[in-house]
Amino acid sequence: MADRLRLMCVHAHPDDESSKGAPVMAKYVDEGHDVLVVSCTGGERGDVLNPNLADNPEIQRDLAQVRRDEMARAQAILGVDHTWLGFVDSGLPEGDPLPPLPEGCFALEPVEVATEALVREIRRFRPHVMTTYDENGGYPHPDHIMCHTVSMAAFEAAGDPTAYPNAGDPWQPLKIYYNQTFSRGRVVAFHEALTALGEESPYAAWLENWDPSRERTITTRVKCDEWFERRDNALLAHATQVDPNGNFFRVSRQQQAKVWPWEDFEAGLSYVPIVEGEDDLFAGLPTDLAEADALATSGTLTIAHDGRKERTV
Ligand SMILES: [Zn+2]
Repeated sequence: MADRLRLMCVHAHPDDESSKGAPVMAKYVDEGHDVLVVSCTGGERGDVLNPNLADNPEIQRDLAQVRRDEMARAQAILGVDHTWLGFVDSGLPEGDPLPPLPEGCFALEPVEVATEALVREIRRFRPHVMTTYDENGGYPHPDHIMCHTVSMAAFEAAGDPTAYPNAGDPWQPLKIYYNQTFSRGRVVAFHEALTALGEESPYAAWLENWDPSRERTITTRVKCDEWFERRDNALLAHATQVDPNGNFFRVSRQQQAKVWPWEDFEAGLSYVPIVEGEDDLFAGLPTDLAEADALATSGTLTIAHDGRKERTV
């Protein structure tokens, strides 16, 4: 049994932690590791996406507080620790041409300001492994793209004693992964599962419009079907954001466990080698906590895997 290691999952706003990587976080919590979710913003500009709650005036009056309460419930269900980075939701701009982003929002923050806030959290929590989104945000919300930018900048700066000297003692996380929950393999598996049952598949259009130039390299596949129920309950805790009759729940948990019992990740940067067929985010790290900690503060690390790409959206 490995010692208690630390995983930090950086997300744009509340509900992302439940839709991306949640069963893996719950698994690591149950296995005795420490997992911290960092929400960059409060999701203040989100829409109410659950049709049952769309016209509820109490929710409309203070969506920010409703979302804090939802996050607290999801956090308790997943068993993770949670912190707010304290930035303000940029909203998802819509229209042609797109309207300008609202003043003071996360995506307009100077990168160094947001990076320093995350570096401070990294140096306090001292994660061995981090997760974030890929360079395209996984989905083109300005806060998802900013989440990537800031996570990568903080990952690179946290171990550098000359960077942000007022934000704590240097600590170098050993790896950072991109969430790839909606990998092509999984979407195909879900599509085929529904088609085999003679049901209509919402994934058909998705696959038809799939852009092959945006194919991702899945380096790591973590089996986590035992924790799908916890993930679903955490998602449902974000009641304003999740339609209980929506596509998230179209494929039954039993079917999911049969056709795709994994969560997919893509290694972004790593100071330890990423081996073919990796099945654990802590793979390649010392299983002894003192040794893992010593590695993160050794100051002599060199990059062993660089999966960074240029942004295409
Ligand atoms: Zn999101």
